[in-house]
Amino acid sequence: MKQKTVLVTGASRGIGKACALAFARLGYHVFINSHSSSDALESVQKMIYDLGGTCTRILADISSSSEVSRVFEVISSECDGLDVLVNNAGISYIGLLTDMTDDDWDSIIGTNLSSAFYCSRASIPHMVSVKSGKIINISSMWGTTGASCEVAYSASKSGLNGLTKALAKELAPSNIQVNAIACGVIDTEMNAVFSDEERQALEEEVPSGRFGLPEEVADLVIDLAENHSYMTGQIIGLDGGFI
Ligand code: NAD
Repeated sequence: MKQKTVLVTGASRGIGKACALAFARLGYHVFINSHSSSDALESVQKMIYDLGGTCTRILADISSSSEVSRVFEVISSECDGLDVLVNNAGISYIGLLTDMTDDDWDSIIGTNLSSAFYCSRASIPHMVSVKSGKIINISSMWGTTGASCEVAYSASKSGLNGLTKALAKELAPSNIQVNAIACGVIDTEMNAVFSDEERQALEEEVPSGRFGLPEEVADLVIDLAENHSYMTGQIIGLDGGFI
């Protein structure tokens, strides 16, 4: 049987890394990307090889259209196209909107939203040609409710949710499912900004009493990638009951 392929953006650590390893365990060829942290990405590649898996490492800034074109040149040099796209790479900005510069704003929207447009646009032609495919967007509960001091981040994730719902309708006739996971607080380096006290206070706010694990997000990503061909356009909450 033909080996399935997946691109996971932002796979050098956190949720992306957990997803990359989970796909590798299932026998997928995994294209792993991040914009920096070459050593971290290389160590994820080594972990995949240790699992007996195959993978290709692609350093690229996916907020840039031309860099994404380069990513897909690599992909098309190695396979016909992707079976699964996981738009995971993301950055956060915590602070008042009035303190944000244009560059801060562009960077959040570029990394969290435009990247999903660039990567989806490049993935779709192959998926349409084989009438099969999955696009999974890693969103946030703040895209649903909005968070004070995370206005740009919330806007980018709301945009990602809108992209998910609309693209799902556009691609459903081609048997391509597009869904998003609206994560709550997940225990990754993205949350390393919190002090011990802040972390404890935040944990107490989560009805489940703890942060989620990157592996728990990866479990859901794999479920969406492998199953549920009648489910599309959904924003699925994974937040321990937070919202
Ligand atoms: P993380 O900071 O641990 O990892 C982010 C990854 O994205 C890294 O590999 C980084 O190199 C990569 N990245 C950042 N900018 C990039 C760019 N321009 N081009 C390519 N790669 C880039 O973050 P995480 O917690 O694993 O978050 C992953 C996704 O989950 C993000 O979209 C984030 O918004 C979302 N999310 C996280 C949480 C959380 O609590 N951790 C909650 C909700 C949603």
